[in-house]
Amino acid sequence: MGRGRVLVVDDDELITDSFRLVLEAEGYGVETVGSAHLALAAAEEAEWDLAFVDLVLPDTDGLELLRQLRARRPGLAAVVITGHGSGLRGFAARDAGAYAFLEKPGDMTPEKILTVLANALARRQAEQELEAARQQVAMSEKLSTLGSLVSGVAHEIRTPLTYVTNNLFLVRQRLDQAARVQPELREMVDEVVQYGKAALDGVARINRLVEDLRRFARRDETGPSEADLRDVVGVAVDLFRATRRGRVDVRADLRSVPAVLLDTGQVQQVVLNLLTNAAEAMPSGGVVRVATRTVSGGGEIEVEDHGSGIAPEVQAQLFHPFFTTKAEGTGLGLSICQRIVEAHGGKIRFDSRLGRGTTFYVFLPAGEARRSELSA
Ligand code: ADP
Ligand code: MG
Repeated sequence: MGRGRVLVVDDDELITDSFRLVLEAEGYGVETVGSAHLALAAAEEAEWDLAFVDLVLPDTDGLELLRQLRARRPGLAAVVITGHGSGLRGFAARDAGAYAFLEKPGDMTPEKILTVLANALARRQAEQELEAARQQVAMSEKLSTLGSLVSGVAHEIRTPLTYVTNNLFLVRQRLDQAARVQPELREMVDEVVQYGKAALDGVARINRLVEDLRRFARRDETGPSEADLRDVVGVAVDLFRATRRGRVDVRADLRSVPAVLLDTGQVQQVVLNLLTNAAEAMPSGGVVRVATRTVSGGGEIEVEDHGSGIAPEVQAQLFHPFFTTKAEGTGLGLSICQRIVEAHGGKIRFDSRLGRGTTFYVFLPAGEARRSELSA
């Protein structure tokens, strides 16, 4: 069934049987149904690559069925089976999303069926590739507009936040002085100080968000230099251990790696973001493993946790900016990682099992390979 899954919708069993024979012999997965409502049920239940749909069905018009199928599964390719001489309806069928036609009975030969099927599947794949490319372009446009917007806004936000912090500090100082002179005020002052602390927590959160946004938007790079990935990752790990009094225990297994052309600060940022996510995926603690190793063409960093894992529907959106499942997340960590890794000519990928944990892999090309690539 490696070749694709095909749904055949026709109430004539002679037709559906011949489709089944021809398609199964070629290694396609086939299901046949005799009515529109059964076809819709089949489309609900499973993914199909292509549907052959008879124009005349016992319950619904074939074109109407096609519209409903395509509304539910926009990626479904469809071929309409028409009776002899119904050429006039061809235009309507194209509008409903049909890729091609087969005319009964003349076109019901194995060669014809297989050719139409192969062409329709090829066209579907081309459409999907085009759509993916279009999305990629739209995303990078969005990111670059966002980038210039963000660096300006971040600065404007930080300044008033400093006033808030400084003034809260002064309020506290004055209240403390007052309570020293008038001890009966102490209880009230302590209460107000608690409110102030809550306000400062809010400020800290905004600061974190702004800091993430700035990193996300940053275009100025200190520039790459040839570095030992082992050292760079080692420093990031030390930094993480020093700043995070979490319950995670980071174990580093850093093997020697060929020299990589990299921007030290940025690659450390990648490791820190991955470590932060790993720790956040294990709220009750555990071990996070960090490793570096030589792989073909460069070096690889691996960050492995035994946390929550990532649900399939979340996986698709993981690298989208602002996508987060956390109440206090910014959703920028992984898109920053991706941007940095790609700027280095590298790749980031992950493996995850729900309830078991997640491993992120960052590949960075070796310095030599990278230089010849740049000068080519
Ligand atoms: P944030 O951490 O602010 O949510 P990220 O871009 O760093 O933003 O991550 C996006 C989302 O990806 C997270 O909200 C989380 O759902 C998921 N995620 C990332 N890393 C892991 C991990 N190691 N384990 C489980 N989920 C993860
Ligand atoms: Mg994160």
